[in-house]
Amino acid sequence: MKVLVINAGSSSLKYQLIDMTTNVLMAKGQCERIGIDGGIFKHSANGKEDYTRNVNMENHAKAIELVIEALLDSEHGVISSMSEISAVGHRVLHGGEKFSGSVFIDDKVMEAIEECIELGPLHNPHNLTGIRACAKVMQGVPQVAVFDTGFHATMPKVAFMYALPYEYYEKYHIRRYGFHGTSHRYVSAKAAKFLGKDINNLKIVTCHLGNGSSIAAVKNGKCVDTSMGLTPLEGLMMGTRCGSIDPAIIPLMMEKENLSTREIDDIMNKKSGVLGITGVSSDFRDVEALWDEGNERAGLALQMFCYQITKYIGSYAAAMGGIDVLVFTAGIGENNGRLRKIICENLAFMGIILDDEKNKQRGKECDLSAENATVKTVLIPTNEELTIAIDTVEVLENLKK
Ligand code: ADP
Repeated sequence: MKVLVINAGSSSLKYQLIDMTTNVLMAKGQCERIGIDGGIFKHSANGKEDYTRNVNMENHAKAIELVIEALLDSEHGVISSMSEISAVGHRVLHGGEKFSGSVFIDDKVMEAIEECIELGPLHNPHNLTGIRACAKVMQGVPQVAVFDTGFHATMPKVAFMYALPYEYYEKYHIRRYGFHGTSHRYVSAKAAKFLGKDINNLKIVTCHLGNGSSIAAVKNGKCVDTSMGLTPLEGLMMGTRCGSIDPAIIPLMMEKENLSTREIDDIMNKKSGVLGITGVSSDFRDVEALWDEGNERAGLALQMFCYQITKYIGSYAAAMGGIDVLVFTAGIGENNGRLRKIICENLAFMGIILDDEKNKQRGKECDLSAENATVKTVLIPTNEELTIAIDTVEVLENLKK
């Protein structure tokens, strides 16, 4: 059984074709600048030469057509007929309170995802476009939606409520939802398996540190708290997002700089975080290189990032009444031993102690803890696409029952 995983954005679409009998990634790629001149299509497949095409894609349906064409291509493709694709799994950002798990997409589900647009206005419309494009180009192929918010649905009310007038929750569903759910779910389960322990008996803190970063507290296999909120803007400072700030700053900045709601939103989402502090780059590799050259603001940005993570780990240990396992994942978590070390430096009092030699490892499942650590710190590479594909198969199998 082969599953096509789709992650559709406003002007981009990423895809992976995964063989679910072997869990092998057969092909992947992305369509960039959909609906804009200068479109780029990148494709790579197992055992085939990578290729990039400059081709305009007027909409997402055209992009999906190109994906299918590439998968079928005699030179670069990996399948001989579209009928080999058994299902499509879509990453959908916001499931609101309507979805706690992955679902087969029918008209009712489409409507419900549409109703969640007010909660995820930057992503849900594009996720829907991706689903409609696949329905058009791949008629009859079953589609499944996997929500970024899904894993966090188990958070208790005490963790997900904001102390605003209660009616805003009732009227507008304003509450914490959390994101990167597929990643937190995948790495927490993998970490337990890797350590040979039962997840139902573990207190785990998972740190997904990439361009977008979030932390989750996973107690006995269930998410009990997470750093992102109603939107992915809350929590840690990130590549370009400010993370949590005093909410009173927003009206103040709007008045002082004469900003509209859209403009302030843009500043907080795209011009803040590591980019905002350094004024140069949002990429942690660039910022680290600048720090090494003596750029103080680069050093400040990275130290602020690590400091915030340290505080979250401490607070989630308190929230769960302890911590057994600390997990690092995503671009930074998997590759940056230096930042991992800074994050863990002040956590020795909780038994989180890294082994400097082991901490040099990157990009593979491994234990980073020192002999005398009482908490296991592990590196688990995330795989959101595989999780989406596994869910897709599971949802379709359950439908047959
Ligand atoms: P996204 O949230 O876009 O999926 P990633 O998880 O790929 O982001 O993380 C992007 C960040 O991770 C970048 O800031 C980058 O500096 C860092 N990163 C990614 N790969 C590496 C690597 N091989 N070595 C060091 N840093 C990396």
